[in-house]
Amino acid sequence: THFGFETVSETEKASKVYKVFENVAQKYDVMNDAMSLGIHRLWKDALLHVMHPQPGARLLDVAGGTGDIAFRFLEYVRSQQERQQRRAVLLGQTPSWQDVSDRYPDGGGAPESAVVVCDINKEMLKVGRQRADSRGVTTGLSWVVGDAEELPFNDDQFDLYTIAFGIRNVTHIDQALKEALRVLKPGGRFLCLEFSKVTNPVLERLYDVYSFQVIPVLGEVIAGDWKSYQYLVESIRKFPDQEEFKGLMEDSGFFCVQYFNLTGGVVALHSGFKL
Ligand code: SAM
Repeated sequence: THFGFETVSETEKASKVYKVFENVAQKYDVMNDAMSLGIHRLWKDALLHVMHPQPGARLLDVAGGTGDIAFRFLEYVRSQQERQQRRAVLLGQTPSWQDVSDRYPDGGGAPESAVVVCDINKEMLKVGRQRADSRGVTTGLSWVVGDAEELPFNDDQFDLYTIAFGIRNVTHIDQALKEALRVLKPGGRFLCLEFSKVTNPVLERLYDVYSFQVIPVLGEVIAGDWKSYQYLVESIRKFPDQEEFKGLMEDSGFFCVQYFNLTGGVVALHSGFKL
């Protein structure tokens, strides 16, 4: 297993990944904006757009860190609910989610969506909780310490599973995929955002220069931590490309697997279903 420019064992990788995120937790959100020039926000918005969650959906966001996906999810569902309510009032109809009476037996009230943020790192979750407090988010959100390879949840629990910029940090990707499949309900959807292989050669050259020469410098200047950001760049290079990851998902038992390249393949969004 590769870590930075050293070669380390699997157990060492897990503890080094833990230290990286423990070190960067407080600066994580600032660094994300600085390193991606704010573009990570658009990638995360794209994830929500493809997911298109409906009121009542239950999401598990693994490697959820400081909660970016969770906050977006709750906001998206709230706006869907308001849209459906407005539309229903205009047309004199019942909002579509009220028709699903087996899932929401008390019918009349709006169904509660919920998101569980699960991450192996307590420090990242601590920052997430502080963000939730400062945003006044009190319902529909919970924070759980857990490993993507051994999720602390029962089978068939969630409608949706997301993992954004997390899976490349996991030691056994196949084990994390197996666990994702286990906790999803039949019909549930898996969505993964991850750095991938740039498809345009000119962009690839620029991206190489930026990643190897600019990102560790930014890491040092903003977070005082060159090594962690060097790890970040290296781990991106080691991660399977779009087609390989699609193959891993299919081998793990996901159906209808497809992916979308974002920003010329800098990031790929993979999707698959549990049948
Ligand atoms: N999803 C968030 C986002 O997009 O902003 C955070 C991504 S951050 C780059 C990667 C996260 O993966 C870290 O919070 C780290 O603690 C978490 N992580 C690493 N290995 C993990 C594992 N085996 N299980 C769960 N989380 C893990």
